[in-house]
Amino acid sequence: MPAVAAAVAADPSVRSPLPVLGRDVAVPLVTGGEVTYAALDYAASAPALQRVWDDVAAYAPYYGSVHRGAGYLSQLSTDLFENARRTVAEFLDCRVEDQLVFTRSTTDSLNLLAAALPDGCEVFVFETEHHAALLPWQRAGRVTFLDAPDSPAQAVATLERALAARDPHGPALVCVTGASNVTGELWPVRELAAAAHAHGARIVLDAAQLVPHRAVSVRELDVDWVAFSGHKLYAPFGSGVLAGRADWLRDAEPYLAGGGASRTVARRADGGVDVRWHETAARHEAGSPNVIGAYAIASACKALTEAGFDALAAREEALVRAVREGLADVPEVRFLSLFGEDAPRVGVLSFVVDGWNSSHFAAALSAEYGIGVRDGLFCAHPLVRRLLGGDTGGAGECGAPDAGALNAIRVSFGAGTPEEH
Ligand code: PLP
Repeated sequence: MPAVAAAVAADPSVRSPLPVLGRDVAVPLVTGGEVTYAALDYAASAPALQRVWDDVAAYAPYYGSVHRGAGYLSQLSTDLFENARRTVAEFLDCRVEDQLVFTRSTTDSLNLLAAALPDGCEVFVFETEHHAALLPWQRAGRVTFLDAPDSPAQAVATLERALAARDPHGPALVCVTGASNVTGELWPVRELAAAAHAHGARIVLDAAQLVPHRAVSVRELDVDWVAFSGHKLYAPFGSGVLAGRADWLRDAEPYLAGGGASRTVARRADGGVDVRWHETAARHEAGSPNVIGAYAIASACKALTEAGFDALAAREEALVRAVREGLADVPEVRFLSLFGEDAPRVGVLSFVVDGWNSSHFAAALSAEYGIGVRDGLFCAHPLVRRLLGGDTGGAGECGAPDAGALNAIRVSFGAGTPEEH
């Protein structure tokens, strides 16, 4: 990594434009002394932007319950919550008629959509997806798992073939990632959306790893829904977004039943209750919403827009290049990729070091250098197994990899990655 440091530090165009929290945390080393922590794990959770923290701190003393109170602070909070919804919808370049639901995370958003699938809906999903995008559909409908493609063009062809074989009259949904959390590779979202629509299917974009790195336009990509998490977009944990077509969401049973989702509730003569549910996003936001979480996401959206995605992407590309060049003289290092090592990607790289157990390697980076990376199968077991070309023996849980398993190491960057690491 020192070679990486030198290469990146020498290039002033890669200086971070957006300060984040925790850049100066000192961590103890097993070899003695301490070093400034190097977070190279943005794909798991990005540290909050200083700006987001400041915005939240400025608002926190004044918050009140939303949609419920006549008092000044309740009105203020309601305005901030609804303004946050508009800001995020603008950030995603949603269509005017789209609905934006605040959720807890990408996982929550995709589960919400799974719960809203119309009867008989068929779902098509590549085996390469993060488990959050791979698993929710099995509870809801008939799922076709598509084999991993070895190029973006093959991804489109695979989807086309699968959709052509389906009953064209029933509803169908394609779920696809924008950028892989394992390889960082960008998927051909626009082309996949066109293929889905040509066959009468809809498409949801798992943008968990895309929104922190690239401008996402629902309109231009022509996706029906997009899902992402606040904690990967430099906001705190606990908030996420599902935005897109209103009809399936409006026709579905509320995701959670309770106050906020219901418009009127009345006892019936037979002793039961009649409920009329909201038809807006509130239908799926029962209970007191995470106003600060929504406000924080909106703050992050504004900060990233102001910094400009072109500048952020250029900086990340320089970091990716620097890591590759820095590790080029180490023949034991093998990068993982589906579409080829030079395929366009966001700031996420996974690799193995021949002769090393990845978990031990990651532990050594932390203990001896203060570098925080991720090791394991990254909640994408079928993909990592395929890329490693071996069986992991069923081990390698999402968060706690088995030390004996065949795992990989992932480094991932973001707006606050210190250049000198
Ligand atoms: N999709 C992708 C591509 C991810 O990388 C992740 C998290 O790593 C998720 C979905 C799930 O996000 P969350 O854990 O915030 O629900």
